[in-house]
Amino acid sequence: MAHLNKIVIVGGGSAGWICAAMLSHYFQKGPTQVELVESEEIGTIGVGESTIPPFLQLIRTLGINEQEFIQETQAAFKLGIRFENWLEKGDTYYHPFGQIGGPLEVNEFYQCWLRAKQNGHPSNLQDFAPATAMAKAGKFMLPAAAQKTMIANANYALHVDARLVGLYLRKFAEARGVKRTEGIVTDVATRPDGGVAKVILKDGREVAGDFFVDCSGFRALLIGKTLGEPFRDWGDVLLCDRAVVAQTENVGPPHPYTLVQAQDFGWRWRIPLQHRAGNGYVFASKYLSDDEATATLMSQIQGEVVLGPNIIPFKTGVRERPWVKNVVSIGLSCGFIEPLESTALHLIYKGMDYFLRFLPDMDADQTLAAEYNRRMVADYEEIRDFIVLHYVTTRREDTPFWRDYQKVVPPQSLKERMDLFRAAGVLRDGVDDMFRAPSWQSVMEGMGVRPQRYQQLVDRIPLSVIMNLMDKSAPMLADFVATLPSHEEFLATHCPAAPFKRSA
Ligand SMILES: Cc1cc2nc3c(=O)[nH]c(=O)nc-3n(C[C@H](O)[C@H](O)[C@H](O)COP(=O)(O)OP(=O)(O)OC[C@H]3O[C@@H](n4cnc5c(N)ncnc54)[C@H](O)[C@@H]3O)c2cc1C
Repeated sequence: MAHLNKIVIVGGGSAGWICAAMLSHYFQKGPTQVELVESEEIGTIGVGESTIPPFLQLIRTLGINEQEFIQETQAAFKLGIRFENWLEKGDTYYHPFGQIGGPLEVNEFYQCWLRAKQNGHPSNLQDFAPATAMAKAGKFMLPAAAQKTMIANANYALHVDARLVGLYLRKFAEARGVKRTEGIVTDVATRPDGGVAKVILKDGREVAGDFFVDCSGFRALLIGKTLGEPFRDWGDVLLCDRAVVAQTENVGPPHPYTLVQAQDFGWRWRIPLQHRAGNGYVFASKYLSDDEATATLMSQIQGEVVLGPNIIPFKTGVRERPWVKNVVSIGLSCGFIEPLESTALHLIYKGMDYFLRFLPDMDADQTLAAEYNRRMVADYEEIRDFIVLHYVTTRREDTPFWRDYQKVVPPQSLKERMDLFRAAGVLRDGVDDMFRAPSWQSVMEGMGVRPQRYQQLVDRIPLSVIMNLMDKSAPMLADFVATLPSHEEFLATHCPAAPFKRSA
């Protein structure tokens, strides 16, 4: 077996530096060298600030101190997503992280709740979700620090400053031997087998390697431009294709959730960090011009604008094969799905995690590539289905955008999931499901999709036991949450970021 001597990463956005940090963690003592090529002149996309809980696995896997990371990246906590105006105008629901209630014997809490609802219980599903209760009340506590309490099964992620995360991980990777080369790649030389041999920079320097990680963003220099790997376009089921983004000063304390508010032709986000907030309007250019979208965003955001507005065009979909020959594409070069559930940074981590599991030797065995591709594409498809679910279940018909969504035919895989769910609240488990039952249940319930019946096994439990559980646990949870510190207090006490200097 001949180890790879050198891996070259092309691109130094979030994808490039996450990959570099992970590779350097494992190859600090050899045998593989890592070099990253990036161009400050081209720059990075500069967004990607809302994460999901597995992002913290990345931090922990790298042995990074979470508290220090939060302070260095001006991060704040995220307990889930608050959706506004999705089902209908004026409607609100939450998609929380972590569990909702606890099981009763072998029965899922959700199934017990369905039975209670069928018997007239007045509660909402989210009354039993500790992360939702905290998010609504603007409270925060680390679930691990509250074991044996009603919030022990909550979970959380972070809102981070994308630029500061890049800088942090760059420092981490360089300290572990990653060589950074500044320059614009203008040419790529291929090997006789069609794989990549080296990239050639504008000033004539060459960077050769045995394996290449394409993190060049939407440009897809290696996987797209050089290898010509086709892109599966999902624009037929996800209609948005542009975003306008702006950063603002914070007004008021940061809320511990991502706000995603449906608009007439897409949706708007607000992601508060410790020092500022990120804002954006994801929209469909078929119905709205850049100027109109910008005007809408600027009229709705709060706080003084510190950066932007900038327009970002995008295409939704994924490469047929993310790994081809000796090139693996990770990040935007591989694929993109609108950031409604903040999944892109996680897919970067997951891509590199799989890659390390399937790490090839000099032969770049294509059997490994085939399995990698199957799993990555399955992950992208699962996220696509989950995002499409948010749209195809809407009752909004007030604009051509929402009316057209009523006509979108969901992918077969989503249709099957929805049918199964409608039948008895059953979810189809995959091998590496990114969104677990509470996520699907939250969005289904939030979008008015409730199963026709609950699972029959629940009838083994006396109805009075179930009703009693529902009566007692929601008020107990609310009472406990009321005793917790506010999100702002928690940040100030445990992980305050240094005062931010804009020139830094
Ligand atoms: C509107 C929007 C909102 C988003 N929100 C979220 C979110 O909330 N959560 C989330 O997880 N994700 C989000 N994402 C996705 C997230 O921003 C990206 O997945 C992430 O930033 C990774 O980007 P990247 O590193 O692949 O690309 P980029 O940041 O574009 O980096 C590309 C790199 O390649 C380099 N490069 C390109 N061409 C050359 C060349 N010729 N020579 C040398 N270097 C080159 C560039 O200099 C740069 O360093 C969002 C994306 C968009 C578009």
